[in-house]
Amino acid sequence: APAKLDENDPQAKGLGYKHDASKVDKAKYPKYAAGQHCGNCQLFQGKPTDATAPCAVFGGKLVENKGWCSAYTKKA
Ligand code: SF4
Repeated sequence: APAKLDENDPQAKGLGYKHDASKVDKAKYPKYAAGQHCGNCQLFQGKPTDATAPCAVFGGKLVENKGWCSAYTKKA
């Protein structure tokens, strides 16, 4: 199974990734809007109901459905 993305991974830190979107640094990432999370991001490679799924931005490492990073792109 793919590895789980570590919040302390340099790339994760660079994009402000948090396993829990409520913990995102809102001052640093003003683009964050309530309701945005990995589970409704275009780059979440799973079903919207999956607890975790690989993320294309992080080389397929698993991200949390309720996570968020600054590469968030609303699912079309
Ligand atoms: Fe989550 Fe999307 Fe960022 Fe991947 S790109 S970590 S799915 S918000």
